[in-house]
Amino acid sequence: MDPRAALREHFGFDDFRPGQEEAVTAALAGRDVLVVMPTGAGKSLCYQLPALCRDDLTLVVSPLVALMQDQVEALERIAPGKVGLVNAQADAATNRATLEAAVRGDLRALYVAPERFSSRAFLDAMKETKVGLFVVDEAHCVSQWGHDFRPDYFRLADAARWLGADAIVASTATATPEVAKDIQERLGLQDPALVSTGFDRPNLSFGIARCGTTKDKERRILAALSEDGATPAIVYAGTRKNTDQLAASLDAALGVRVEPYHAGLDRDTRAEVQRRFMSGETDVVVATNAFGMGVDKADVRTVCHASVPASVEAWYQEAGRAGRDGAPGKALLFAEAKDKSLHVFFIQRAEVDDAAIDKVAHRLFARVEGNRYDLGVDELSYLVTEDGDGSDRVRAVVGHLARAGVLRPAPSTPDRLRGRLEAPYD
Ligand code: ADP
Ligand code: MG
Repeated sequence: MDPRAALREHFGFDDFRPGQEEAVTAALAGRDVLVVMPTGAGKSLCYQLPALCRDDLTLVVSPLVALMQDQVEALERIAPGKVGLVNAQADAATNRATLEAAVRGDLRALYVAPERFSSRAFLDAMKETKVGLFVVDEAHCVSQWGHDFRPDYFRLADAARWLGADAIVASTATATPEVAKDIQERLGLQDPALVSTGFDRPNLSFGIARCGTTKDKERRILAALSEDGATPAIVYAGTRKNTDQLAASLDAALGVRVEPYHAGLDRDTRAEVQRRFMSGETDVVVATNAFGMGVDKADVRTVCHASVPASVEAWYQEAGRAGRDGAPGKALLFAEAKDKSLHVFFIQRAEVDDAAIDKVAHRLFARVEGNRYDLGVDELSYLVTEDGDGSDRVRAVVGHLARAGVLRPAPSTPDRLRGRLEAPYD
């Protein structure tokens, strides 16, 4: 089947985005694929479309139930009754029924967590059906170089082989050469089609504002979020305390619903906040970086950072949650001198004062050329220069980082901060 016709038929999209057609064609032909694209680029379609076109079962392994649920709900609308999810939170009878449907050949795609492959009953059931594609989403979880390392990802290569899958399709937003090599080795990819797009997100504009005081910062964030079309929005506020405070003052001043989200809230509360944000009942979530990987809302218009993120990569990844639908999005970073000195204090770097920024600029590029991986807040501070639109500068730096292969996702809790603080980042 012509991939473009299938794209139109199943998803109603007229065109592939960069890289998608290549990935889809390779997967349809039963070739291993490694897809490396930034967040929001459309990696899921690279395996979902082949799954719907093939007549065998595609297994999709993903690390988070929330990620799987979003995808299953979306696919259920496109192909009712053809997708399933086996998950530890569902009751045994539901899971059993889903597996039976898969074995009967009713399903085109079955989503599972990596832990599932330690279940004998699951493996035996899968052995009874023809597994075509074996998809490993967020494949950087297999690599100890990544920050989301999952030991359960280790056994996936063996499972795929044992099940006799035609091909493995791995996808990730992590672009470092180490991680890519690790993924290929640990998943045992055979002569994979390597599909990689640039990391530029042309629909995003970047703004960096240096603020005089915390009050000044709050005022500017309020102004940015008051503009027409600025919401839905996410505001990253660094610490739990700042998150609660900023959420309360924005909620009082903004005239739309603003809620906080951080790991200090209980699980049910967090799930509710996320649900209300996804459904549009809540317009703005003020969060720590705990609001992350599971959040897949396509129409986020603004991502604000009310504190300097831990690295350029952390910033770019979080900023990338704006504009996933392709419509314009804004990434605004609000920084005051204090933020920088806090980070510098935390990471116990040598003091970086304003006079040193010039040197930092040189170091940034020297490190990029030298393929070093410890880009940090002092380099980011280099970007924080004047008020106004810093897009060109950010694009230049991000482009440089991506070309040099050093753009990597944010650590979920920066290792270098662990033990020094009381988990202010989650
Ligand atoms: P990723 O996994 O790379 O972060 P997703 O697969 O979640 O990104 O896709 C992001 C958004 O882009 C989704 O809303 C998806 O429907 C949309 N999308 C993907 N491919 C296309 C396309 N070819 N045309 C239009 N929209 C697309
Ligand atoms: Mg994805």
